[in-house]
This record gives sequence, C-alpha cells and structure tokens, in this order.
Amino acid sequence: AILANQIAAGEVVERPASVVKELVENSLDSGASLIEIEIEKGGHKQILVRDNGNGIPQQELALALSRHATSKISSLDDLEHIVSLGFRGEALASISSVSRLSLSSKPAEQNEAWQAHSEGRDMQVQLTPIAHPKGTSVDVTDLFFNTPARRKFLKAEKTEFSHIDEIIRRIALSRFDVAFSLKHNGKLLRKYPAADNSVSKHKRLISICGKEFGEQAIELNSQYQDFSLQGWLAPPNTAKPQVDCQYFYVNGRMMRDKLLNHAVRQALEGVIAPEHQLAYVLYFSLDTAQVDVNVHPAKHEVRFHQSRLVHDFVYRALSDAINQYFS
Ligand code: ADP
Ligand code: MG
Repeated sequence: AILANQIAAGEVVERPASVVKELVENSLDSGASLIEIEIEKGGHKQILVRDNGNGIPQQELALALSRHATSKISSLDDLEHIVSLGFRGEALASISSVSRLSLSSKPAEQNEAWQAHSEGRDMQVQLTPIAHPKGTSVDVTDLFFNTPARRKFLKAEKTEFSHIDEIIRRIALSRFDVAFSLKHNGKLLRKYPAADNSVSKHKRLISICGKEFGEQAIELNSQYQDFSLQGWLAPPNTAKPQVDCQYFYVNGRMMRDKLLNHAVRQALEGVIAPEHQLAYVLYFSLDTAQVDVNVHPAKHEVRFHQSRLVHDFVYRALSDAINQYFS
C-alpha cells in the first residue's frame, strides 16, 4: 500500500516541462526513432508530442488514459522494479485529468488510426477514426484549465519554454540514436538528427552544449571491472558558454548525485579557475544490481552499494583524463 501511495503521490504534472518529459519518455519506450515536439505559449496553450513508434492498438487507447494502466507491470515485483525506473502507469491519466488530451495512434499492423479524446476529470473517453501515420501523437491543450490554482503558478511563457528546452537537451544527450525536433510558437528552434557515429554524436554535443565545450572536449573512456565511464569533459580552461552543461547519467538516466558530484569536483579541484566553466557530459554504467534508484523518480537520486569504489573510480578516471590533457 505504501508503494501504491508513493506512486499516486508522484507529482507527474507539475508544469509543462514535466508533461513533455513524460510524453517523450513514452515515445522512447515505444521504440520511436523520431520524436517531434511542438509547443505553443510555453506549453500553457499546447503541448504536442508526435512519434513514429509502435503505436497503441484501438482497443487499448481508452485504457492507456486510465490510471495504472501501464503495459509494463504484471506483478508487484515488477512494480517495484518499474517504479525505480520512473514508470508508474499514471502519466497519461494524470495529464488528461488536468487538460484536454487527444491520443492518436496507429500501430503498424492496424489499417486505420484512432483517436481518444478526454477532457479533465470527466474521463469520458471518446474514440474517433482519424488519419495518422504509424506511431502516436499526444496533443495536450489548455493545461490546468480546470485547476486555476495550478494555472496561476505557471511562469512566463519564456520560462516554461526554457524548462522544456532543458528537458529535451537532457533526453537528447541520453539517446543519440533518436532524432528530436522542438518547435515553439510555430518556429523550429532545435533539431537533433539521429547520431550513429562519433562524428555525428560530437555534432549533437556541440549543438547542445556549445562550441567552446564541444569542439575541445576531452573524451573519456574508462573501465574497471563492471564499471565504465564514458563521455566528455570540458578542458579546464574552457570559457563560460551560454548553456550550462553538467550532466551525469547512471545506466542511461540523468542523475544529480552528491557522491558523483563530489568525485567530479575533487578531480577538477585546483585545475579549474573561477572564470572557467565546469562542464561535463558523463555516462557511468554498472551492474543494475549494484545501484538503487530513489522511489521518487523526480529526485534523480541513486544509492550505490559500493559507494566508495564508485567514487574512487570516477575520480580516478577524470583525474587521469585531465593529467593526460596537460601532459
Ligand atoms: P507508463 O508509461 O508508466 O506505462 P503512461 O500513463 O505514461 O504509463 O502510459 C500508459 C500506457 O500508454 C503505456 O504503458 C503505453 O502502453 C501506452 N503509451 C503511452 N504513450 C505511448 C506512445 N507514445 N506510444 C505507444 N504507447 C504509448
Ligand atoms: Mg509513461
């Protein structure tokens, strides 16, 4: 029951960026290789996420909008495991309860596409046939139209959009194999083509983190037993860019973790001057049995079973890379 409550308490819909995050993660889960995001007025007016993934069969459309209708859970053990990954089976239901939502989809093996529409807490889902290519579109309009208190907390259009932009950057740095585009008020602002080799990956790094970092980035590739650390580190003398790039991924998920931050800072202590930036995009991976993810997925916290070992590995990998850069 506690688990269920924790799940229910998960604040899925805090602001437009949290909606975007959930929808894009669903698209990734569906195996999409192309995800297009269109935002109107910072997401206050509209959030549209379109993908070319596996789609949702007609008979499952209404179900996808109901609470805990996840297709990923079949037992409590599964649930425990899945919660740790952030899949709670309630994102679409939560979003649709505070907006007007249309879910349109066509699986490859179905001839027609269908759309489910629901408005607010009413939960009366209507199905209509529609034209749609293979994949899924979720169109969320008038977010918080029925929760005026929440609507009041929405910040200026520009601020909400910058949160969305950040979420997409973060996701795009974790899935180079997927193409993303982001429009705001009809204008194409970001385009991250799929990258399958080191040159194109490097291009994406530059377009997300800027030239200063991207063009001179120190590349990392360290292994120790089942630990591996890959990614990029800005050379210590890199000028400050417009975009802060400090991303640490653990087994593919972005984390803000004290232990890891400490290891990074310690490695760079003394080499980096205040007028220079600390920038890194790092991918740490280890055996999933060696790590616990906080049950509240929004917190981005992890706990390593062998935390000392992890800390020292990360510290050493970065120190070695920096020493090599200076030698
Ligand atoms: P969860 O992702 O935790 O399962 P959601 O509420 O986010 O829960 O989504 C409910 C279900 O709807 C998913 O389990 C999936 O089956 C389906 N779904 C949602 N979005 C998509 C999508 N873009 N493509 C395919 N299926 C989707
Ligand atoms: Mg989901």
